[in-house]
Amino acid sequence: PPVVEVLSAEKSFANGTRALAPIDLTVRAGEFLTLIGPSGCGKSTLLKLIANLYEPTDGRINWWRGDFRKVGQDGRRLAFVFQDPTLMPWARVATNVRLPLDLERVPKPQATPRVAAALEQVGLGHAARSFPRQLSGGMRMRVSIARALVTEPNLLLMDEPFGALDEFTRNKLDDDLVALSWERKLTTIFVTHSIYEAVFLSTRIVVMAANPGRVFREVVIDEPMPRG
Ligand code: ADP
Ligand code: ADP
Repeated sequence: PPVVEVLSAEKSFANGTRALAPIDLTVRAGEFLTLIGPSGCGKSTLLKLIANLYEPTDGRINWWRGDFRKVGQDGRRLAFVFQDPTLMPWARVATNVRLPLDLERVPKPQATPRVAAALEQVGLGHAARSFPRQLSGGMRMRVSIARALVTEPNLLLMDEPFGALDEFTRNKLDDDLVALSWERKLTTIFVTHSIYEAVFLSTRIVVMAANPGRVFREVVIDEPMPRG
């Protein structure tokens, strides 16, 4: 089934920048969709429209709940992972990961096992009591991914999550992300500048072009790369 539908959505900013010409895009459950294209082609803007962080100037974003509904809070579970992990430095890893559950007022006895499970999923079961400053950049990014997974999102949005990491760390995270998203059939929209990531992580690649931002072509990949 579809998860979200972008219907002729456009975005212009107050300064006149036409960030996105009308875009149509349907994201289906279980897809790993990668957005790739030059800087300024509207990749981040498209993610923010889908996340309801921006209003489209025209067109709409619909969520699937048996039928398509206009975007709203209920029934919509999405998580956003940014390039900067933005962890609370004074709080332990487990507390950082628990944050979205605290915001939803999930009682601690229910939250604790979910936090532990999310940390296991990103290979950080042992680091729950560490502080962010004790972790490497790659580990901090894993914490940020765990904080997204703990909410059990039906859509995971990732805006160049590994762009600031060294190549070795990045390749390792790429591998683990493929395993994770395929195991859990996580529906993901992933923004990257890396053709390697687009080709090796995705089930579908949406190539965008700039001025104005638009979809240039799509590439569907039948199967992800086998691991190992
Ligand atoms: P990325 O290419 O990594 O997505 P950003 O989203 O930070 O980078 O910014 C992309 C472009 O949008 C940059 O050229 C930046 O200068 C521009 N930009 C971002 N925010 C604003 C803003 N509030 N006003 C004008 N330009 C902006
Ligand atoms: P990408 O993520 O592909 O680099 P963006 O979505 O960040 O592209 O930006 C698309 C276009 O919109 C760029 O020309 C950028 O400068 C502009 N832009 C992005 N955010 C803003 C903003 N808040 N105000 C004005 N212009 C913006």
